Amino acid sequence: MTRIFLAPAGAINNQLLERIAEDIKSKLHADVSVIKLNFDLEAVRSPERNQYFSTRLLAQAIPQTTHYDGKILILMDADLYVPVLTFIYGEAQLRGKHSIVSSFRLHEEFYSGEVNEDLFFERLMKEVYHELGHNFGLIHCREWDCVMHSSAGIEEVDIKGGFYCSSCSAQISKAPE
Ligand SMILES: [Zn+2]
Ligand SMILES: [Zn+2]
Repeated sequence: MTRIFLAPAGAINNQLLERIAEDIKSKLHADVSVIKLNFDLEAVRSPERNQYFSTRLLAQAIPQTTHYDGKILILMDADLYVPVLTFIYGEAQLRGKHSIVSSFRLHEEFYSGEVNEDLFFERLMKEVYHELGHNFGLIHCREWDCVMHSSAGIEEVDIKGGFYCSSCSAQISKAPE
């Protein structure tokens, strides 16, 4: 069985973590647990951008997780970046073990000022399955109904489907765990 470890970086609501775990359990038939890793967030924060360098957060997790047999998904509610981009929703090692997702720009209040928890959770799970998909070896998919479609902005997150298309699903089931 696929094992997925959720590693919160910074403050993440426990109820939200449980809800994410339940969703992954039911859709990926995976064994999901929450683990505690030590992150030095200040060391990866850019003071000019007031954002966190995602690749360096992944790097902090790697030496702490060698004994975990499964995928490590870091969850963060702060804004992430890589130097060439204004922001990113997440990052993952292709066919690797580690990924990270930020919920910062998935909150509807970030755009319209209005809270919409259902929309927030839907967006968050799209980004979670997207990054996990990269861990399972998937590259970006052209199908708009597929969660592996790339999304540069929130409109594209909202348009794309919530799970893998049949072709991406078939590739995941063949991927080594
Ligand atoms: Zn991607
Ligand atoms: Zn697809």
